[in-house]
Parts: sequence; C-alpha cells; structure tokens
Amino acid sequence: MPEFEAILFDFDGVLLDSEPVHYACWAEVLAPVGVTLEWEFFRQHGIGVEDREILRMMAARSDPPRKWEELWALYPAKKKLFQARMAQLPPFDPSLDGFLSELHGLYKLAVVSSSSITEIAPILAAGGIGRHFDTLVGGEDVKHHKPAPDPYLLAAQRLGVRAALVVEDSEAGMASGRAAGFEVLAVKGPADLRERVLGRCNLT
Ligand SMILES: [Mg+2]
Repeated sequence: MPEFEAILFDFDGVLLDSEPVHYACWAEVLAPVGVTLEWEFFRQHGIGVEDREILRMMAARSDPPRKWEELWALYPAKKKLFQARMAQLPPFDPSLDGFLSELHGLYKLAVVSSSSITEIAPILAAGGIGRHFDTLVGGEDVKHHKPAPDPYLLAAQRLGVRAALVVEDSEAGMASGRAAGFEVLAVKGPADLRERVLGRCNLT
C-alpha cells in the first residue's frame, strides 16, 4: 500500500515556472503609476505569496507609502496580461502529462496554489493536464493563505485523505504544508520535479 493517499502540488514554480511571468506582468502594470518592482525583491518576498500580500508590501515600502487598495485596482490588468502571456507560451514540460498520468493511477492529485483558480484552470486546460487533478485549491478558496496550513488542509479535506505528500518550491509553501501536518518534498522547479517525486515515492 502506498505511503501517501494523495500528492498535493503547488503550481507556480513546481508544475510550471511562471514566477518570472508573474513578476514581469506586475512590474509592467505598476510602472505607469510610479511603483518600481524589482526582480530581487519579488524573488525574495513575492514568490509563493498571494497577490494581495505582495501589493501590501509594495504599498508599504513605496515612497511616500500608498494605500494598497490603490495598487490592487491594477489586479485585473495584471491578470489579463498574465493570461495573454501564458496562452502564448508552450506552458508545460512535455513529460509532465505522462508523469501525472502514472501518478494518478496510484494517488489522488491536487493543485494547491495562492494564485486564483481563474488563472490556473485555463493554463492547466491549455496544457492538456487538467484531467489529472481531483481538485484545485486557489487563493479565493481560503481565508488564510500560505504559510498558514489552510490551503493544504482544505485540499486534504476535499480529497478525504489523511496522509499526503506536499510538493513545494517556496519557503511559504513548505511552511504551509508542514503546518498542515504533511510531509513536504522540496523541488527546485519543473526540471527536477519528476525525479524528486518518483524517488520519494519509490517508483524509480
Ligand atoms: Mg511555488
């Protein structure tokens, strides 16, 4: 019997390296209102963090400080830009479909992300891999985001599982998985995902 009943994947930076695209889209919509978003700041503080929280940090550190709601008004523009960019890119590693298909025969699978389901679901569909997931948990589904345990607890509850393996690339995400009481497997990105997961699940 497998050690885990489910594998819960973070999205950005795990299934898809979309963080540089998120960054570029935010930087582009913030620039016209005089807010400069630097990659180094985003890389350190923005990866794996919910959009509202990123904007709260941006608003607090802008000079003079701004109301974060002012910046939040740019979210629809950022989202639209992100979707357009994602539709242009060949989004996923070609081996991902077969890999998820193999896993789905053995485990329940979920995507657990701080991004909105309305962003993630079309990308999964465009990549032809949406069918492998039993549930998607997005930023709009929980009150407390990563690093709180809520997103991973909700995924496990929806799947009806107690033992899950969480696959994450960010500190906030790993903390969330651990707080939910699950084992966390750290990956660097889509490039080492398959090898890391198959190794941990003794499927190599
Ligand atoms: Mg991530």
